[in-house]
Order: sequence, then structure tokens, then C-alpha cells
Amino acid sequence: MTKRKGKKPAAVLWELCKTLTRERYGNTCYTCRKGPLTGSNWHTGHFITKSICSTELAYDLKNLRPQCYHCNINLSGNWPAFEARLLAEEGQAYVNDLKDRNRATKGQKFGTPWLIKKAEEYRALLEAAPAASQSSSPKHTPASG
Ligand SMILES: [Zn+2]
Repeated sequence: MTKRKGKKPAAVLWELCKTLTRERYGNTCYTCRKGPLTGSNWHTGHFITKSICSTELAYDLKNLRPQCYHCNINLSGNWPAFEARLLAEEGQAYVNDLKDRNRATKGQKFGTPWLIKKAEEYRALLEAAPAASQSSSPKHTPASG
């Protein structure tokens, strides 16, 4: 047996979830719209909250959005606001899919091979995504009016 150094597969996968969520949805709280979120106030929140969701949903990008500390921790994810915005932006089928898949996968065991495979999938997504810092430069706004 060789000793494995470094982070556990679950921690690696969660880091990828956070990075992808930030790249896709930015630094405004999904549920109270406060922003820009920075540092330890920039959380990655679960719609179906982590205490009741399956392992699959815990690492599913569709179930994740940026949130502030207050919404994620104090309001336990603020799911009524979360659901309302998901319904408005993504539609009923999207929300139903998350709930259905959570019911179907709850209690199932997702072991290390699953975590590693999922991390590989997300790493590929990250590499395919354009670098956020280069994709746009809206700061050059000529003075007008
Ligand atoms: Zn918030």
C-alpha cells in the first residue's frame, strides 16, 4: 500500500463544484441578490440542502448556486427563495428533475470511484470553459452623455 497524499476525492470534487458554480453564476447571491460576494462570504449553496440531499445531488451543478453566508448558513439555504428563482429562470421541469433524482438516489452509496469519475468530468468542463478573466472586459466604457 502506498500512502496517498493530498485531498480526499470528495474534497477535490467539491472544489471543482465551487469553481464551476462561480464561473457560471458569478458573485451575486442567488437568493437575496446581494453582491459582489467575496472571500468567506462567497458560499456555494445547495437548493436541495446538503443535509437532506443524496450524494449525487450534493455534487450536482444544477443543484448549486452562489450564495452569501447569511442565506446559506443562517437561512439554511433559503430554499423558498431558491425554488422561486429556479422556477422563474429554469422552469418547472428543471426543479422537478432535481427533486425526482434526489428521491431516486437518496440513501444510495456513491463511493470513491464515482467521486473520482465525477471530478474528471468537471475538470473537463472547466478546461472547456473560457477563462473568465479574458472573456469580457466591460470596464472600457467611454464617457457619454
Ligand atoms: Zn443572500
